[in-house]
Amino acid sequence: MSLVLKAVENIPLIQKDDDIADIICKNASDIADKDIIVIASTIVSKSLGLTFREADIIPSAEAERIAASNGKDPRFVQAILDESIEVFTETPFMLVRNKNGHVCINAGIDSSNVGGDLLLKLPEKPDNYAESIGKSIEQKTGKKISVIITDTNGRSFKDGQTNVAIGLYNIKPIRQWIGEEDLYGKVLEISEEAVVDEIAGAANLVMGEGGDGVPVVIVRGLDFYTNEKVSIKEMYRDQEKDLVLQGLLKLKEK
Ligand code: GDP
Ligand code: MN
Ligand code: MN
Ligand code: MN
Repeated sequence: MSLVLKAVENIPLIQKDDDIADIICKNASDIADKDIIVIASTIVSKSLGLTFREADIIPSAEAERIAASNGKDPRFVQAILDESIEVFTETPFMLVRNKNGHVCINAGIDSSNVGGDLLLKLPEKPDNYAESIGKSIEQKTGKKISVIITDTNGRSFKDGQTNVAIGLYNIKPIRQWIGEEDLYGKVLEISEEAVVDEIAGAANLVMGEGGDGVPVVIVRGLDFYTNEKVSIKEMYRDQEKDLVLQGLLKLKEK
């Protein structure tokens, strides 16, 4: 087996109302059936016009209180609160559940690769944008493809960040190994492989985090295509079952 990760070259700086699917199709001539198109959320957000300025935000008393504990600008804290449905930690950093269900630092508000003094929010319904971009690419190319929208996140327990999936089209997030046999015939009981995060991480090797200008990577050689309706939410663990989140909430109560 071999896996190909291919940068889509010559993508411009994305502006509000740009048609991402059209730009991808014009710059990737050879899209094939079962290709997985990995797209950095940054350009989806830019096309949706989700930029804003800290200076334009008026902080609430709650934002002022949290800012006094974590040393961030109260307006930035307010922007995070506006994007969140639950706050797990307030200091030294804000770990929150976004409106779209994704748990990450600062609600994914990003200043890298945006320009000027602008900040960028994550798309509110990443699955919907993965689907609309994916369907449009399928119409233009006549091929059956999958889409993963990604963002770079930190993780618990380890330094370093990695790209993760935040929105999906035509790809199941998890490959089931439960019930399969290992090399020695032992039946696997808990193995579930988070394939969309693995693919997101691999694509980031080509994207990078800086000025490479590669927000779209085509992944070829995997057989994960499905035409069933999928959602990234399938892989969000129920909060009641999540020991780490439960622990963080207990710490916050103290
Ligand atoms: P994030 O992980 O979604 O926050 O995206 P990053 O800021 O890490 O950017 C990922 C890749 O996309 C990097 O190679 C950036 O240079 C590139 N990138 C970001 N915005 C644009 C854009 O508007 N046009 C182009 N061509 N590349 C971009
Ligand atoms: Mn960025
Ligand atoms: Mn980001
Ligand atoms: Mn990134």
